[in-house]
Amino acid sequence: MTYTGAKVEIETEHIPNTLENPEWPLLIAGPCSAESEEQLLDIAVKLKNTRRISVFRAGIWKPRTRPNSFEGIGVRGLPWMQKVKRKTGLRIATEVANAEHVELALKYEVDMLWVGARTSANPFSVQEIADALKGADVAVLVKNPVNPDTELWIGALERISKAGIKKLGAIHRGFSSHEKSVFRNSPMWNIPIELKAACPQLPIICDPSHICGNTELIPFISQKALDMDMKGLMIEVHNNPPCAWSDAKQQLTPERYGELIYGLLLRSSLPLADESQSPLAKLRAEIDLLDDEIIQKLSLRMNISGKIGLYKKENNVKILQMSRWNNIVANRINMGKAMGLSEEFLKRYLDLIHQESINIQSAIMN
Ligand code: PEP
Ligand code: MN
Repeated sequence: MTYTGAKVEIETEHIPNTLENPEWPLLIAGPCSAESEEQLLDIAVKLKNTRRISVFRAGIWKPRTRPNSFEGIGVRGLPWMQKVKRKTGLRIATEVANAEHVELALKYEVDMLWVGARTSANPFSVQEIADALKGADVAVLVKNPVNPDTELWIGALERISKAGIKKLGAIHRGFSSHEKSVFRNSPMWNIPIELKAACPQLPIICDPSHICGNTELIPFISQKALDMDMKGLMIEVHNNPPCAWSDAKQQLTPERYGELIYGLLLRSSLPLADESQSPLAKLRAEIDLLDDEIIQKLSLRMNISGKIGLYKKENNVKILQMSRWNNIVANRINMGKAMGLSEEFLKRYLDLIHQESINIQSAIMN
């Protein structure tokens, strides 16, 4: 992937991970939202005990898509964060969305600020934050804007960089997409790759929690992020996820966070330069992306089969509807043949799908 936009001038300084091994990724973990002093301390101490945390995160101000959901504890949570820092020695991070947030966070010695996805989509807000940051010695991470627009992301990073912030990084948290997907926010890996091409020295950190929106897929996205040479992970961790005041479905317990991090493979960042650029490696990378998409789509398809099974059960309809299936087979074979696939392959593929779909529906019916 090459970047074809205007030249990007962003100067960066290394953000140390403060872990036993300086080669490890920057690991940012903590709850979506600060809820109480006890909750923050409980999570922070448990995370600290995993020995795999660089920075403790918690949202103080929460930008919510709809009003009337929990909008963050606000300024009274900042002394709690300060207490976490004093008691555990961990660095602390929170989201800022305007100048007042920046001033308050700095006053309470927050070490790392991040600009959220809804804010980084708005240049006026980002400029206001940048102006408030002038002269501050703080690390700043800019999440990708909600829409898949690399230039808008770069623009937000440039505004913060021009304010003199050197400990600067980007967070890949996925993109809103109209297309139905197994992810809450579609990863669209080509966008962070384009950012990396535009600005090779800028560290990019992945936020698997907001990409996945559930806990099951987090290990896959975390490993993939490291394999894509991302420099860190931001993961939401809560002491009682089902009762969390925001993003309950995607938060890990500290125990599962430990298992996740210890299960990750840190592959060498020095692949044989020529080999990774070889035509074969590039084609394989394309296949990997397509297989990812095919498996995601199959999973969506089987979910829908399940819903149909439920409908059939409730309405007392037979599972096998031969005429519908014959139509599907004829139509898909025609389409597939027009796209250069063999009839033999299409038949075998459709049979497998049909069988799996019937199995899923039978399990639901019986
Ligand atoms: C968050 O990190 O809790 C958050 C609100 O993230 P995003 O801006 O990525 O939605
Ligand atoms: Mn969240």
